[in-house]
Amino acid sequence: MASQLHLYNTLTRSKEVFEALAPPRVGMYVCGPTVYNYVHLGNCRTFISFDLVYRYLTHLGYKVRYVRNITDAGHLENDADVGEDKISKKARLEEVEPMEIVQRYATNFREVMALFNAFPPSIEPTATGHIVEQIQMVKTILEADLAYEVNGSVYFDVAKYSETNHYGKLSGRVLDDLISSDQRDDESRELDGQGEKRNSADFALWKKASPTHIMRWDSPWGIGFPGWHLECSVMSTKYLGEQFDIHGGGMDLQFPHHECEVAQNVASSGVDPVRYWMHGNMLTMNGTRMAKSKGNFVLPLDLFSGNNALLSKGFSPMVVRFFMMQAHYRSTLDFSNEALLSAEKGFHRLMESQATLEKLNPSKESTFDVADLKEKCYAALNDDLNTPVMIAHLFDGVKFINSVKDGKASITSGDLAQLKQLYQGMLMDVLGLKVEAAAEADDDLVEGLMSTILDLRQQAKSNKDWTTADKIRDSLNALNIVVKDGKEGAEWERKS
Ligand code: AMP
Ligand code: ZN
Repeated sequence: MASQLHLYNTLTRSKEVFEALAPPRVGMYVCGPTVYNYVHLGNCRTFISFDLVYRYLTHLGYKVRYVRNITDAGHLENDADVGEDKISKKARLEEVEPMEIVQRYATNFREVMALFNAFPPSIEPTATGHIVEQIQMVKTILEADLAYEVNGSVYFDVAKYSETNHYGKLSGRVLDDLISSDQRDDESRELDGQGEKRNSADFALWKKASPTHIMRWDSPWGIGFPGWHLECSVMSTKYLGEQFDIHGGGMDLQFPHHECEVAQNVASSGVDPVRYWMHGNMLTMNGTRMAKSKGNFVLPLDLFSGNNALLSKGFSPMVVRFFMMQAHYRSTLDFSNEALLSAEKGFHRLMESQATLEKLNPSKESTFDVADLKEKCYAALNDDLNTPVMIAHLFDGVKFINSVKDGKASITSGDLAQLKQLYQGMLMDVLGLKVEAAAEADDDLVEGLMSTILDLRQQAKSNKDWTTADKIRDSLNALNIVVKDGKEGAEWERKS
């Protein structure tokens, strides 16, 4: 079993022991959202996955500086080097300032992440706040002769860079394939701006702004705006150093975004910037990636309220978070009403066990190996944050907790304290789950109603009115509630 944290590194395509560059400090950069629209649940999955990484590293005692940017300029339509800026396009359509768009959707993003109980990053830098630094990096890459200027735009020279470096080492793309895949004729290449590039694999570091491009800044090459990949190279190294520990993002960002980031940093500093590249897998719907462009997306607030044709009801943020934690961050996860319903059951079962733990009475001996359970939970997390396996171990513990409650198993006070600490640590600190206020209020209501119903049944039994007593029991059964008659009256529990 792994006693040291192992992380899957996209760069080496293997799980490696995590060794921080300067322990106990860890620097982690995660590509944040482009704030031109409400974040959908797919975006949230990636950010929740990295919230888990942040939480676990912190739980292990690391002092993590977590930088997650806000992309508020430079990200063009179709993730390409030509076309309209996603943010200014939205601003044009709504006839508002681009910064109004940024404000609205960045605020929504932060609110949604807070509902999911995700920690805010230590630093949340924006692309527009770092134009000066981006211009400086372009200058440095030009000085290194790894970029060229054409007509007010600056492009990264991929072929030149590849003479001494491996472009494609992160994503596994092969440069020759990238070049030969661009089979379009010269006219269409010219039309989309490709004509300015020496090579179709080259990418923009700085783009000349057309008269209609409203997000524009002065630079040594004229009025323009930065290329999308540049901001992350600049802001990660500005706040975390030329080389830092972890860089994260969704798998779809491996190419070109992250490949270009590596190339820019190596070209400007000579240093490979990232020790561990981590990529979260996609949230899908019927097997297709959830994406705004495909129209198959769910907005978090609609999911919470149930205001979506795909949903039979609303699901609380913690149920949704638990649903995500039940999958490994590197596996795809398919969204469905059924999957959420079953996650909801599991979530409640786990959370109820915490309340049960508080009520258990210790005995002289334990009939369960708590230390072994703890070791298994940490081994699962140390194995590249395998939360589904860790959760399965917690469920084994729940069975034991329930048997202690039913008097069929026993636990010493020392083990009980250990078990409480383990569940607190795993559920709250690492998985980031919390008791939801509404659920708590609902639980109180259910307790009250059940006690009234069981009193009425008891009264019926005292009156030898077996028909009514049985009817109450059967109706509760139909609601998946089991009534057990004991010496001290009737007790009830949800069928699991
Ligand atoms: P964007 O705002 O488009 O730059 O995306 C923000 C983040 O969401 C990126 O890290 C993407 O990889 C991630 N993302 C987009 N779609 C999905 C999805 N369906 N599942 C998981 N992550 C996604
Ligand atoms: Zn990025």
